[in-house]
Amino acid sequence: MSDSVWISEVGGGYGNTIETTGHLYSHRSKYQQIDIYETRKLGKLLMLDGIIQLTSYDEFVYHEMLANLPFYAYKNGTPRRALVIGGGDGGVLRELSRHPELEVIDICEIDADVIEAAKKYLPETSCGYLDKRVSIHIGDGSKFIEEKKNYYDIVIVDSTDPGGPGEPLFNGEFYTGIKAALREGGVVTSQGESAFLLPDIVARLNRITGKVFKYSGYATLHVPTYPTGVIGACVASDFAEVTTPAREVEPELQKVLRYYNSEIHTACFVQPNFVRALFK
Ligand code: SAM
Repeated sequence: MSDSVWISEVGGGYGNTIETTGHLYSHRSKYQQIDIYETRKLGKLLMLDGIIQLTSYDEFVYHEMLANLPFYAYKNGTPRRALVIGGGDGGVLRELSRHPELEVIDICEIDADVIEAAKKYLPETSCGYLDKRVSIHIGDGSKFIEEKKNYYDIVIVDSTDPGGPGEPLFNGEFYTGIKAALREGGVVTSQGESAFLLPDIVARLNRITGKVFKYSGYATLHVPTYPTGVIGACVASDFAEVTTPAREVEPELQKVLRYYNSEIHTACFVQPNFVRALFK
């Protein structure tokens, strides 16, 4: 086909290649290069600085898990206040908005252009912004968190990889700030990278969450369009262990969710030996 262009995410001697049929959006923002493509098999594709952020095909896995692992790991009643750091595409917001118990859903995204692009070209994910409980804050999440004390029940760090604007979201001070921003029972969940692709970052992140919080766990999520086909999520709390859900998913909600369920919540924290070895 003449309109077919294969694009790749490459790095570290490894790559993912996807057939696209249209380049819907290309823009250099203050922070990063933003590209949105139409693909032959995977629906829409969002890339930032040449790194795949989501495809319509499998974004439900990542977004359901990032939102629901902390929501159901929370063991001090039901969470009422949530914060998303990063997550400009709106996918985590969409999943949080399925929970009527939440009273506050804040998002702090550094790049307003990602939000605008998602609203225009990715309505299936950016529909999260339609929820009236959502308040948008534009800025660096590492600064935003310093101003909040004892306020949120769940914090979700849906960031890009270290190296770009996401760099300050991968250090101990940031997690100490999150701990101070959480009230009793609070749970944090972060984009935790792939143990196949970035073992050093996985080890570093888990060392940080393990040091700052009393309870922590590393979950594996299957996302075929991320390089190596998996990505991790770090979940941590000072209140109670996070590897089991406190509550069953409400039956009506369970009909809508395509990945998260109570059994997956427990199973995703079971790690093979090479991943366990990273945490020693
Ligand atoms: N699912 C994704 C992935 O593949 O890792 C993450 C998607 S989401 C689009 C990541 C967002 O984090 C981007 O929109 C980026 O602008 C935002 N971001 C990066 N650094 C940030 C920071 N320091 N504060 C707030 N948002 C940040």
